[in-house]
Amino acid sequence: MRRISHSCDRLRWLLEFHSAKLGRMKIIDSRRLKTLVHVVRASSIPWLIGAASKEIVRRLAGWPRGLLVESSTQCNLTCPWCEGIFHLSERKRKFLPASDLESTLRHASSHVGAVTFVRTGEPLENPEILEIIAIARRHRLVVTLNSNLATLDLETAKSMVSIAPHRIVTTLISAEKNEYEAKQVGGKFERTIDNIASLCELKRERGQHFPVIEVQLIATKTSVEQIDKFADIVSRLGCDMAFVKPMRVDLFRDGDEYRRVHIDDVPLDHEVCNYTLDEEGRLVLKHLGPCPQQENIYVSADGDVYPCLFGPEGMKPYGNLISEGWQEVWKESGLAKDKREKYLHRGDRICTNCVPSKEIALPVD
Ligand code: SF4
Repeated sequence: MRRISHSCDRLRWLLEFHSAKLGRMKIIDSRRLKTLVHVVRASSIPWLIGAASKEIVRRLAGWPRGLLVESSTQCNLTCPWCEGIFHLSERKRKFLPASDLESTLRHASSHVGAVTFVRTGEPLENPEILEIIAIARRHRLVVTLNSNLATLDLETAKSMVSIAPHRIVTTLISAEKNEYEAKQVGGKFERTIDNIASLCELKRERGQHFPVIEVQLIATKTSVEQIDKFADIVSRLGCDMAFVKPMRVDLFRDGDEYRRVHIDDVPLDHEVCNYTLDEEGRLVLKHLGPCPQQENIYVSADGDVYPCLFGPEGMKPYGNLISEGWQEVWKESGLAKDKREKYLHRGDRICTNCVPSKEIALPVD
């Protein structure tokens, strides 16, 4: 009887989750579809069969699709619009050690299909980042690196291409040199563009599909006027994918400086913008939709586990994947239950501030 009731719960959860996904603005996630095409083209049949079987088990068990892993809490840039700095006060360490990623993945890799190195700092600042990516690859996960690429050197680029994470995503706040350097403070526009070009070139020379190189432009009042220029740059560089992404504003922070760099820069009339103004002229989200991070969980550089990357500030972790097993962290801690019953429908205060994923895919030749 208990089994039947458990199966009914699972079925209800699957239906709820997928109908919530369909309720989003995009039924087909063009980014994931394109990455999938690359993965299928570049992988062997046995690898694909293994990955597909794991995916079926994962879905039936209701495990998350991926881990979002913070490999560094230190950044080479000091962008005033970046929220990363607000989330660092509780971290004990600067970098995730490679040995701790090994422990984390030993506990988690048979339950998830992907790992993304993202937030809060710059992954390339971690002196062990190449080893970290190699470990994730050895665990047969789909590996994504989010990096500003501002200080990538040629030797690291060569090693990176030879280790071949599946995807490298980089973000520009502007396609104009002066604005980029004023807003991605510490970065040099030409150097960042050259670094993207090197990765594309090295990959071409080796005849590899991976890493898929993806560049995204954050939509601001000025950058939405630069979309054609941005599309020209990424096409010329030979990138695989390019997107315009909405700017995320932390609506809980409304100080003068924050307002100046964020709120006044939101392109309210643009289709990619997630915000509108209420009757009192305050910025509010247009529509909430279901949780955009429902399929992922977040692991900080300390190994602490949270339901998503927007939660850590002030939130108690559900567990620690370096020192605890999957069952303890995912199930016994209540994380699985909370993801399904509380966070899917944005049941936390932090969720009222969270933008749905929405982007425009640009053609790249
Ligand atoms: S803040 Fe809430 S809605 Fe947003 S990603 Fe996190 S859990 Fe999901």
